[in-house]
Amino acid sequence: MARTQKPLYWPNVLFLTLSPLAALIGAVVYTRLYGIHPLEITLFLLMFFATGLSITGGYHRHFAHVSYKAHPLVRLFYLIFGACALQNSVLNWASDHRNHHKYVDTERDPYNAALGFWTSHIGWIFYQSPVDRSFTNVGDLLRDQWVRWQHRYHWQVAVVVGFGFPLLAGALIGRPVGGLIWGGLVRVVFVHHMTFFINSLAHMWGRQPYARTDTSRDSWWLAFLTNGEGYHNFHHRFPSDYRNGIHWYQWDPTKWMIWALHAVRMTERLHRIPPHLILKARVEVDAIDAEMHLQRIAPELGVSWRQRLEAAKVRMDHAMVQWAEAKAKIRELKETAWKDSEHTRHAAADEARRAVATARQHWKAKLQEYESRLKGARNEWRLLLQGLSNIPA
Ligand SMILES: [Zn+2]
Ligand SMILES: [Zn+2]
Repeated sequence: MARTQKPLYWPNVLFLTLSPLAALIGAVVYTRLYGIHPLEITLFLLMFFATGLSITGGYHRHFAHVSYKAHPLVRLFYLIFGACALQNSVLNWASDHRNHHKYVDTERDPYNAALGFWTSHIGWIFYQSPVDRSFTNVGDLLRDQWVRWQHRYHWQVAVVVGFGFPLLAGALIGRPVGGLIWGGLVRVVFVHHMTFFINSLAHMWGRQPYARTDTSRDSWWLAFLTNGEGYHNFHHRFPSDYRNGIHWYQWDPTKWMIWALHAVRMTERLHRIPPHLILKARVEVDAIDAEMHLQRIAPELGVSWRQRLEAAKVRMDHAMVQWAEAKAKIRELKETAWKDSEHTRHAAADEARRAVATARQHWKAKLQEYESRLKGARNEWRLLLQGLSNIPA
């Protein structure tokens, strides 16, 4: 419990305990006295998404994990509205977060979930003073002059943009205090706890389909509350992926924002983990569950089931390797074709291009074959797991 031996950092304690109270009392009293104006709701939503997505898509997936590249204007937006979320500078945030991934669930994890809900949610910030910081793990960010600028002025930015803008916008309709309460205070508290839930609840509630090596969990309802960050088990297993919810139907507005920015060329090199590696991770977790069940059933049954499962797993591993090889081959041939297209005037190029096209056709056919083989192996694996789970312990 080394963290709790540190002295309390009172500015953080006071702000984090008084801001929810002030937001609640302010919103209730103001609404009872003056009602609520559509502009105040608009300001709340606008600032909630601008600052919330700057934390999830900016501070987290772009700066801390470098899971994609972003246009300087997008980075500046993240730095300004991330500062308005009042979660410290991106240097501090990313440094803590990289430590969280590196030392997850240990004493060196800044928001160690092993210490319980309270400490991992908000308690850890009570002890975090700005003077005991080292930025050795964010050297790449330190090289950026705008990141250094944000580190120096994030408080000023938060006051001017995070509170000044909603105040001014409210003043336009003669309700500056309403603008400040909804677009500033209430919004800050919502985004705070949205982020804090990822450090606390996303390490406590939900499923673990991708890894059992730490406490991180996947939860659709938490994803709904956190702009997609609730698929936290996947994220801890594959932190360099720009997505947290990998399926199209999984609620991940942060992923959709990054993708939409990519469509207008404002982000690039969106990193996706190849599907066969994701499947491999799932199968490894399935195998852990299967082994636990095998331990509980009659030994004579266990032996034959273990053999069948091992054989099915070998078939699936083999199919995954073949699929990945065919995919890599097609990618390689595509690059070759692209390079060759620069030499269209050479007579020999025609011959070479035809050879590349034939090879691509061949590997595309192979890919289809491997895909159906993988599908078959996967179905067999699923049926076996289902059959095993039906055997009473
Ligand atoms: Zn985590
Ligand atoms: Zn992360």
